[in-house]
Amino acid sequence: MNLTIDSARLQSEIDELARISDAEAPAVTRIVFTPTDMKARAWLIQRCETAGLAVRQDAIGNTFARWAGSDPNAPVVGTGSHIDAIPNAGKYDGVVGVLGGLEAMRALQRSGFRPKNPLELLLFTSEEPTRFGVGCIGSRLLAGTLSVDAARKLADSNGESVDEVRQKAGLGGELETVKLPNGYYKAWVELHIEQGPVLEREKVGLGIVTQIAAPASARITIEGSGGHAGGVLMPDRHDALCAAAELILAVENAARTSGSTDTVATVGMCDVFPGAINSVPSRVRLTLDLRDTNLARRDAALHAVEQASQRISEKRGVTIQTELLNADAPADSAPAIVDALTRACQTHGQNFLRMPSRAYHDSLFISRIAPIAMLFIPCRNGYSHRPDEYASPEDIARGTLVLAETLASLSL
Ligand SMILES: [Zn+2]
Repeated sequence: MNLTIDSARLQSEIDELARISDAEAPAVTRIVFTPTDMKARAWLIQRCETAGLAVRQDAIGNTFARWAGSDPNAPVVGTGSHIDAIPNAGKYDGVVGVLGGLEAMRALQRSGFRPKNPLELLLFTSEEPTRFGVGCIGSRLLAGTLSVDAARKLADSNGESVDEVRQKAGLGGELETVKLPNGYYKAWVELHIEQGPVLEREKVGLGIVTQIAAPASARITIEGSGGHAGGVLMPDRHDALCAAAELILAVENAARTSGSTDTVATVGMCDVFPGAINSVPSRVRLTLDLRDTNLARRDAALHAVEQASQRISEKRGVTIQTELLNADAPADSAPAIVDALTRACQTHGQNFLRMPSRAYHDSLFISRIAPIAMLFIPCRNGYSHRPDEYASPEDIARGTLVLAETLASLSL
């Protein structure tokens, strides 16, 4: 099989998709179900159809582009990722897995390869939690790890529900039909930028992901009492922001003292009310993001944050409420797919590292219903979710080549 990647076309497609954005270049903003997101999807669907793939969308907008196999009843070999982008993001996160997946299939077509199992490219809806507060809505529904009832309750900051928004965007059908039947996939592989510095630092072009870290996230609301910044004396204060400051440090400490550098914890948002220079903060909303490759250690860190909340609440006379948004288990890659990726690297003389994924991806949820693995390529300085996110055309082409080889070996 003579596999060649059309790197120039792939690169021009990545650039073209980056221009469908609500932010000025080089930043990319593409929030799920906005007109911009829908325009990007239509653009992608057209490219899939041009490649001769049969496209279908489910009720939440997950988009499948299929190359029929010689055995139409055989389970699917799948690849793909997402194209939604957080505000002020870059152009490679997710996109490399979608357009790289498409180019991998075109490269296989050009080589004369004919799959036995159907090969499918999948574009997931709403990998990013920007609009509805929970990430990976599409893949969670496909896997059934998010119930349809729970999905219906998700709403954006305007109070519009997922259901309303997707119907307005032109996506019909019942959400109950999104879940994939058992045994749908024979194998699943997602190509993605690393979003960390390891591959670049080690000067290795490819990472084979053996495990995806377990993410948890929460909204924390601290209620104290406000008042005039001149009038309320210090002994009488129940300042919500001072309590938040202590809690943020407790979050950092919970991760730092877990016993492993695999534990990471972040408070990324802090909303202060009423937010005036001469007013004691009466309410603060924080977000918590806590991850680990080890579930027990992740949960122990979550527990440490809870205990700190209680302590701070008693000491400062404030109430602290924690609403857990998600607490997912980690996933192990399937040995057979890790082997297929390893052989594909060897076939093409490529060095690789085996590594965990510290970020989570749609593959985490697909792992609940299918054997999965992921393939990482380096990104400059490990930067992601920012406009200067960058992966070189050579690295993207290398990842796409190994992906194509792997998809072929899995669909024989
Ligand atoms: Zn991503």
